[in-house]
Amino acid sequence: MSEIRHNWTKEEILEIYNKPMMELLYDAATIHRKQHDPNVVQVSTLLSIKTGGCSEDCGYCPQAARYHTGVEGNDLMTVNQVKAQALRARESGSSRVCMGAAWRNVKDGPEFDQVLDMVRTINKLDMEVCCTLGMVTENQAQRLAEAGLYAYNHNLDSSEEYYKEVISTRGYQDRLDTIDNVRKTNVTVCSGGIIGMGESAEDRAGMLVALSTLNPQPESTPINALVAVEGTPLEDEKPVEIWDMIRMVATTRIVLPETQVRLSAGRTQMSREGQAMCFFAGANSIFAGDKLLTTPNPDVNEDMKMFKLLGLTPQKPFTKKVQPQTVEAKDSQYESLGEKPRWTRPEHTIERNEVKKQEAKEVKISS
Ligand code: SF4
Repeated sequence: MSEIRHNWTKEEILEIYNKPMMELLYDAATIHRKQHDPNVVQVSTLLSIKTGGCSEDCGYCPQAARYHTGVEGNDLMTVNQVKAQALRARESGSSRVCMGAAWRNVKDGPEFDQVLDMVRTINKLDMEVCCTLGMVTENQAQRLAEAGLYAYNHNLDSSEEYYKEVISTRGYQDRLDTIDNVRKTNVTVCSGGIIGMGESAEDRAGMLVALSTLNPQPESTPINALVAVEGTPLEDEKPVEIWDMIRMVATTRIVLPETQVRLSAGRTQMSREGQAMCFFAGANSIFAGDKLLTTPNPDVNEDMKMFKLLGLTPQKPFTKKVQPQTVEAKDSQYESLGEKPRWTRPEHTIERNEVKKQEAKEVKISS
């Protein structure tokens, strides 16, 4: 077993990231083989249960209400709709359903109660359930845990320094606070980030410092390649080079040896050969399904063909941790407290957001 370190420095991680490629691949693949079965890949299906209209200003996100991306907002899905999608996902080889809602934070009330019912329903299908609902309080995290939630996703996105360049409506510490609230329960933590937002290699290393110094380290870490969506402030960013993706995956594998490293957004831009290199470098999870929230993703049949070609097998649910018990709403020991997560709004404003908003205003006036 590889040693898990929580004291990585940015310099050490950068040194790994910049190693000659063959050496980096060898080191990462060696750790990967010690810690995981290299022929098993976990498959998650990401489901947007409430799309668009978000009040936040994440510069990469087409669901932010303030950008003009053509994403249509939808109300929260019903429990039956979610159950039907989960059954389809299970049939096509997914062991986990990750439900995403475009919310800044969870609000106690009927919509959250509905999400808790979704969690209960999917857990009873013997699938791992993950939620990504924005910031949560400890009480909300406990209620999710009680419903049978397996994982909560809350990405750090980038380094603390670069985060301010991408998002101004909340701070890095807010992210860490939510992760901390989830850690007070038995729900596992899923947290990762995005490359290709204009950040430097130092920022990539900085994000890995933040993730690796969490104790315990996240059980899963998605590595996304930015999908630059027209209408967002990051629309002009160049696609991520496959070699950058491979370097990032390999470095993540080395500093987070036990974590499931997930290839997430941006897979449509990657060849099968590129993805195979990522699996070799330590990626052992993918998001399946034709859409990742609102951006395109490879067809699940194509993914299964790739698995066959590479001799990969989808991981069975609850391989890494036992299935949580579901407590019914009527037996819950937690009341809805109606509280909001503590939240800071950094004073920083994103210049390019302001420019975009001004341009949008001018277009509106002239039309
Ligand atoms: S990433 Fe999440 S929080 Fe940020 S704008 Fe999109 S939906 Fe909102």
